Amino acid sequence: MILPHKDPQKRKEYLRKYREANREKLSEQHKKWRKENPVKLKEIRQKSTLRNREKIKEYQKKYYEADPEKAKAIKRKSAKKAYKANPEKFKEKSRKFVKENPEKVKESRLKSYSKNREKLIERMRKYREANPEKFKAYRKNRDYDKINESRRRLYKANPERYNAYGKRWKEANPEKYREVIKKSYRKNIEKHRERFKKWYEANIEYSKARSRKYTQTHPRAQTEIMTEYRRSHKMCEWSYCGQSTSLHVHHILPLSKYPEHIDEKWNFICYCPFHHFAYHYAFSKNRNDNRIGNALTMLWARTEKWALKNKITIEDLEIELAQMI
Ligand SMILES: [Zn+2]
Ligand SMILES: [Zn+2]
Repeated sequence: MILPHKDPQKRKEYLRKYREANREKLSEQHKKWRKENPVKLKEIRQKSTLRNREKIKEYQKKYYEADPEKAKAIKRKSAKKAYKANPEKFKEKSRKFVKENPEKVKESRLKSYSKNREKLIERMRKYREANPEKFKAYRKNRDYDKINESRRRLYKANPERYNAYGKRWKEANPEKYREVIKKSYRKNIEKHRERFKKWYEANIEYSKARSRKYTQTHPRAQTEIMTEYRRSHKMCEWSYCGQSTSLHVHHILPLSKYPEHIDEKWNFICYCPFHHFAYHYAFSKNRNDNRIGNALTMLWARTEKWALKNKITIEDLEIELAQMI
């Protein structure tokens, strides 16, 4: 006969019964012990983790597969807790990781950026609005040479993509696009002129044919009587102007309505390029008439040329113009 404590089956049964009967008491005892022996407890847990590594992994995997969202949430929560308990440690760790894995970091940053693009843009916009001064300083201090260099590099690596992007933007923002073009044209006016000159000379036949055609469709450019009038006048006839170079003959009664008065001296007045432009600009603005857009562009181009030659700044002309209308 085997004694009860020697028979493993019976012993197990006995212990189970004992635990059940004394559940409260035992739990109290365990709690106390855990509180009194934190180091030992940690050791035991570590050992058990090591021993059951495979099992735990298996269990975690199953848990994750059953409800990935929940598992992720728990992971996030525990990570947050750990971070809060010792932020410096994590910061140090992450700094080290960034230093050691630049490629990985770059990739993950890109991924996160494209995932949260809208959100980030919105956040940036809010920041800009809240800190206009800071943002101004930031813009001013950026290294634009470096930025442009990297932009050029990106463009060269994938021109199709950037061209498509630019096209989409142009179509979505026609007003802004026109503004950008105007600004850039003005900024690089010398370059544009140089380029146009080169193009003109390279395509001389075509260019000449085009200007012949233009004079045919716009015959009123200059008549002999107009030229004579211009030569007999030495100054812009706008009050107090007094400019004397590159004068234009303007028709007081417009040729579009009164072509018969093209050569009447009483219908002439001499303006400098700026005042000629200003007159037509103000006239079309006041009547909200956009029909002479092309003519205005031409007049403005002449004004710019004339201003450059006479060392008058475009800004001054723009101020003058703003005061007129
Ligand atoms: Zn005119
Ligand atoms: Zn003038």
